[in-house]
Amino acid sequence: MFSLAVRRCVSTALLTRLSSSAARTVVDFGLNFDLTEEQKEIQNTARQFTCDVIIPAAPELDKTGEFPRDIIEQAWKLGLVNTCVPAEYGGTGLSSMDGVLILEELAYGCTGVTSPIVANDLALTPVLVGGSHEQKKKYFGRVTEQCLHAAYCVTEPGAGSDVANIRTSAVKKGNDWVINGQKMWITNGGVADWYFVLARTDPDIRKGFKGLTGFIVDADTPGVTKGRKEWNMGQRTSNTTGVTFEDVVVPNENLLAAPGEGFRIAMKAFDHTRPVVAISAVGLAQRAMQEALNYSLERKTFQQPLIQHQAVAFMLADMAIGIETARLVSYRAAWELDQGRSNTYYASIAKCYASEVANKCAADAVQIFGGNGYNSEYPVEKLMRDAKILQIYEGTTQIQKMVIARAMAAGLRTMTC
Ligand SMILES: Cc1cc2nc3c(=O)[nH]c(=O)nc-3n(C[C@H](O)[C@H](O)[C@H](O)COP(=O)(O)OP(=O)(O)OC[C@H]3O[C@@H](n4cnc5c(N)ncnc54)[C@H](O)[C@@H]3O)c2cc1C
Repeated sequence: MFSLAVRRCVSTALLTRLSSSAARTVVDFGLNFDLTEEQKEIQNTARQFTCDVIIPAAPELDKTGEFPRDIIEQAWKLGLVNTCVPAEYGGTGLSSMDGVLILEELAYGCTGVTSPIVANDLALTPVLVGGSHEQKKKYFGRVTEQCLHAAYCVTEPGAGSDVANIRTSAVKKGNDWVINGQKMWITNGGVADWYFVLARTDPDIRKGFKGLTGFIVDADTPGVTKGRKEWNMGQRTSNTTGVTFEDVVVPNENLLAAPGEGFRIAMKAFDHTRPVVAISAVGLAQRAMQEALNYSLERKTFQQPLIQHQAVAFMLADMAIGIETARLVSYRAAWELDQGRSNTYYASIAKCYASEVANKCAADAVQIFGGNGYNSEYPVEKLMRDAKILQIYEGTTQIQKMVIARAMAAGLRTMTC
């Protein structure tokens, strides 16, 4: 009964499609892994840029920790940055899927360079999902007219995963808000032109996330202090600092959405950026695999290239399995967003899984390089250091699992029978 119904369904769909366009050479059954010609062009532009600009610069940037301002500016000129900004506000108007294709290529070169790019999108997205037309015009305008940086200020010394526990306060004074508090681990913190800041507008801590509100704060507002650059394990070219707000006066017109809406828009931003972090992990994993593959074809032990030893070959095969599957779920997370559907579940699966894959691939690449892998003259130890943060920022692996399980409990993804 069941199979008959399915067969009837398929043949009706097939007949409709075949008769609707005789010129069609491909029968569309719903799933399609092909990129459009435009997407291939975008991908090639990003790939070329990575080969020509990012890869040659990355080792030195890792040593000095210098912010990759020039590289980001070149990428910005090519339209590879701030891809979330809609065309009506001067952006490229690219889809999430397009954005993911770009970041996959750039991350192959260096995730230290892509983190500041993703951080911009992370700061822009609360404006995208909660901002007024005027706010979008002004703050999107700034980053599309010039290559400026923005930052997303949520984490505090006492609250990272537990966002509802943040203590930075915003108190209404006339038509302004006065912000006091300390943010830490802020990507682009020291280089940003403006910040998205999540603050508590309801002093009753028991209100939890319902008492939080989002603001746009210009970085040159009196009372804003940028902290020193943190020297992290990896992604050293990325700028991470604390940011302190001391009696910072912000006009009411910079409040996003409405008081109490801050948590919602701050979390919604992750639906847009977690697929991007996931695909950055895929880009890094792909690089680790490629480096390890090249090395295993050249290096000989026991009169054989390394790849001829089954233990090494299986490590490489496991890398390929992880990368292919992580790429699929990352694309799915971005594609769901482009369909206008909630992608929270897929975004968390992608971020959680791809970051695990990246760490495994990078660690195994070091293993395949042997002693050379542990040395900074070879590229893979940097990949291993760079990969770790992918499991921590934008929600740790454990937090992604909580989000996934919560979605399952709420029945957002149900069994079909
Ligand atoms: C380089 C870097 C860049 C960053 N960039 C930004 C940025 O731009 N903007 C920003 O706002 N923040 C940023 N962060 C902060 C980052 O998002 C937080 O570090 C992260 O969310 C974890 O918070 P935490 O460090 O306070 O760890 P904690 O929340 O203290 O967690 C510690 C450990 O406990 C686990 N844990 C916590 N709660 C639970 C639970 N309920 N169940 C199970 N396990 C749990 C965590 O998974 C983690 O393993 C950045 C951090 C770094 C290091």
